[in-house]
Amino acid sequence: MKEQNAVMRPYIVGNWKMNGVKAMLAEARAIDRAAGRNPGVDVALAPPATLIGPLRDAVTMIGVGGQDCHTAEKGAHTGDMSAVMLADAGADFVILGHSERRRDHGETDAVVKAKAETALAAGLTLIVCVGETLAERDAGQAEAIVGAQVDGSLPVLADPASAGLRLAIAYEPVWAIGTGRVAAVEDVVVMHAAIRERLMAALGEAGAAVRILYGGSVNAENAAALLAAEGVGGALVGGASLTTEAFLPIIAAASHED
Ligand code: PEP
Repeated sequence: MKEQNAVMRPYIVGNWKMNGVKAMLAEARAIDRAAGRNPGVDVALAPPATLIGPLRDAVTMIGVGGQDCHTAEKGAHTGDMSAVMLADAGADFVILGHSERRRDHGETDAVVKAKAETALAAGLTLIVCVGETLAERDAGQAEAIVGAQVDGSLPVLADPASAGLRLAIAYEPVWAIGTGRVAAVEDVVVMHAAIRERLMAALGEAGAAVRILYGGSVNAENAAALLAAEGVGGALVGGASLTTEAFLPIIAAASHED
């Protein structure tokens, strides 16, 4: 039996990345209906920014989020999107610090932290991503790297007691994202425990209520084992969130863990 705070419902989030045009709203509607059939699970989708508004209008049961936001509320930042704009479009959360943002856009922990604070001020909740590269894991540095990412990326919360409602962490080993190579369950347990320690150090007792999601090649076959693992509060899912066929079994697996 998992030792888990009773208020922590499993949280299953689909990250559509740079995939999806309006035709994908049919998938979102089907995912929304599946969420309705699994009321013990919090389900959410982070579509491309262009679909946040239409997706918000198409669903009633699931959360809708952005995949990034700027550190500033507004201004001369061509092509960027602010947290205020995401909220205005209908988002209720934002994913920050995804390894693809860290890699493609040079995002540091300090940048992620600044974005997190802007997003909170805009009323969004957060999923802050952390994870080590394969070279870092092979060098025995996974816990130290991820711990430092947690410490450096966490926003200062106006009300730390509300951390569990405002914040989730996604542990996503970089080498497991989009590769089909999933982390071993025992390694996930170790890393989630290390992240929990950092959360407790930063937030005190409130750190116990922050959900820690696993991400990295989660699919219908491996979801049940990962979601049943100690300290795993849900999953951030990329490729397998793009079709109902792949995503619904993951929601169903989470339903058995609620
Ligand atoms: C992700 O993008 O956050 C992710 C985990 O992707 P995938 O599930 O495709 O590995």
